[in-house]
Amino acid sequence: MSEEGLGEPRPESYGESVPSAPRPDWDLTPFFQGLGAPDYVEFQAALARDLPALAVRVAALPPLTPDGFSVWSALLADLEGFWARLRHLSSYLGCVSAADARDDAARRDVAALARTRAAFDKAMVDLRTRLGACTSGDFSAFVARAEIAAIAYPLARLRQLSARSMAPELEALATDLNVDGIAAWGRLYDQLSGSLEFALEVPGRPPERHPVSVVRSLLGDPDPAVRRAALLGGNRAWEGIADSVVAALNAIAGTRLTLYPRRNISDFLDPPRFDAAIGRATLDAMMTAVRARAAVPRRFLVLKARALGRERLGFQDLEAPLPTSDDDPLTWEAATTRVLAAFARYPALQRFASGAIARLWIDHQPRDGKRPGGFCTSSPLIGQSRIFLTFGGVLGDMQTLAHELGHAFHSAVMTDLRPWQQNYPMTLAETASTFAEQLVTDAVLDDPTATRARRLAVLDQRLIDGVGFLLNIPMRFDFECAFYEERQRGEISVARACELMVSAQRQHFGDALDPDELDPWFWASKLHFYIVGTSFYNFPYTFGFLVSRGLAARAVAARSGAERASFFAGYERFLAESGSAPAEAVARATLGVDLGDSGFWHECIDLIERDLAVFEALVAE
Ligand SMILES: [Zn+2]
Repeated sequence: MSEEGLGEPRPESYGESVPSAPRPDWDLTPFFQGLGAPDYVEFQAALARDLPALAVRVAALPPLTPDGFSVWSALLADLEGFWARLRHLSSYLGCVSAADARDDAARRDVAALARTRAAFDKAMVDLRTRLGACTSGDFSAFVARAEIAAIAYPLARLRQLSARSMAPELEALATDLNVDGIAAWGRLYDQLSGSLEFALEVPGRPPERHPVSVVRSLLGDPDPAVRRAALLGGNRAWEGIADSVVAALNAIAGTRLTLYPRRNISDFLDPPRFDAAIGRATLDAMMTAVRARAAVPRRFLVLKARALGRERLGFQDLEAPLPTSDDDPLTWEAATTRVLAAFARYPALQRFASGAIARLWIDHQPRDGKRPGGFCTSSPLIGQSRIFLTFGGVLGDMQTLAHELGHAFHSAVMTDLRPWQQNYPMTLAETASTFAEQLVTDAVLDDPTATRARRLAVLDQRLIDGVGFLLNIPMRFDFECAFYEERQRGEISVARACELMVSAQRQHFGDALDPDELDPWFWASKLHFYIVGTSFYNFPYTFGFLVSRGLAARAVAARSGAERASFFAGYERFLAESGSAPAEAVARATLGVDLGDSGFWHECIDLIERDLAVFEALVAE
C-alpha cells in the first residue's frame, strides 16, 4: 500500500543534530481522542468482541448457492466493515508510533493489533476455501447481485487464490509451519542485518564503526572516497555472515518452490504477477522495452561520470550528488506554497492538497524520537489520510511532500467506494505519488527564474530514478529469476550467488560502470530479497514509475483546457478503479492505454530520454 516502509526512500541527511519540536504537527483526533482515551479503548474492545463471532459465522456458512446468497451477503458486509476498522486502527497506531518511536504503549498495541489481524486472516482463509468450493455458475450469479457487484473483483481474486491452494488442512499446516520456517528465516535476516556493523575506512581518516543501515546514506556522500569505503566496508561485513545469509535466501526460495507445485503453480513468476495484478503479457512487454532501451540510462551514467571528473562510475556512485549542488534551503511555508503552485495544472489535486495542509494532516517538523522516512496512511472508516515526513529544507523534502500528497489524493478519490474496492496492488500504488512528484519537478524545469544548479539538481534526481527503475530494479529481477531457476536443482553457494549478481549487473549496466567496481554482495545487503510475504519485490516499482511517466506525458500533451479536463477525468477514474479490476483492464477502460503493448512502455522511456537531452545540454553549458 502507500505505507513507505519497504520503499526506496531518498538517502537521508546523516549525522546532523535534530532540533526538537514539542509535539507532532498533525491532528489525529478525527481518528481517536488519544491512545488509551475512552473512544480508543471502546474501539479496541469492540474489535476483540466482534472477531470471534465473525469467525464462527464464517465456519457456519452454508454453501454458496442461491439459497445461501443472503447469509453470504450479510456476512461479507460485516467482514468488510471489520477490515475497514482494522485499517483505521492500524493507520492510527502507525502514526502514533512513527511520531515517537519510543512510545512503549503504542508498541504494545501494535503487537496486539498484529494478533487480531492474524486471527482475522485465518477467518478469511476459511472464507476463501468456501468461496472456491462453489460452482462458477453460482459465483457469477452471486456477484451479479446489486449489493455484491462492487466487490466482484476482490471476491474473484479470493476465488483464484483458493484455486492455488492445497487442501484446507494442508494450508493450515503450511501456515503453522511458516512461523518457524520461511518467516523464521526472514526474522533471522532482520536480526542479522539489524545488528551487523561495518568499519568505514576512508583513507586519511581514523576508522569508524557504523551499523550497516548507514551504508545507504553514505552512498549519497559528495566524497567519492567515502562512498567507496562505505560499499567496501559494508560488503566486508556481509561477507563475514554470508553463510547464514545465503542459507536464509536458499530456505526462503526453497520453501516457495516446494509449495508451488502442490498449489498447482507451475511458474515461480505467477504468484508475484498475481500480487501485482498484472498478466504475463504486460510484464513481458514492459521488460522487453526496458531491456531494449538500456542505452538511455547508461548514457546518463557516462555523462554523470564526466560531470564528476571520472572515466566511469562504480556501483557505489549510482546516487552520488552533482558537484553543483542546490543548497538554497527552503522553509516549510515556501515548500508548501511551491508544491501548491505546481499542482495548479491539476486543480482537483491542488484543492485537495491545500485542504490537507489546512486541516493539519501532515507531521513535518524535525523532532527527537521521530522515525526516519516518510509515508502516507489512510483510514477507509473516516476517509482521511495522514502524512508523515521530516522536512529538512532541501529540494528532496519538497518532493517527498508532493509524493505523499499524491498517495493521499489517491485515497481521497476512493473515499466513496466500499472498503475492499480501496485495496489496490503495489503496481498501482506509486502511480499517483510519482505523478504528483513529477508535477513539482516539471514546475521547476518550466520556471524561467530557476537557477541552472536547481534545474540540474532536479534532472539529476529524475535521471538517478531512471537508472534505478530501468537498470537497478531489472537487474534485481533477473538475479531473482536466475536464483529461482537454479534453486529448483539444489542449494546455491555464496560464490554462486555472487556470480549470479555480478552477471545480472553486467547485463544491465553494460560497460557504463567500471567492471572492477560492481557490487557482488548486493544479494546479501538488499532487504527486498528477504521479504517473506512476497517474492520479486522489484518489478512493481518499475511498473509504477513508468506508468506515472507515461501518464504525465499525456497530461502535458493535453494542450487545451477541455483536453486537460478530459485527461484528468480519465486519470481520476483510473485511480478510483485501481482496486476494482486488473491493471490492464483499468488502464484500457479509463485512459485508452494498452499495457500489453511494448509501444506504451517505449513512450514512457521516451520521456526519460527527453530529460537526458536537457541534462546533457545543461552539463555542456
Ligand atoms: Zn510512495
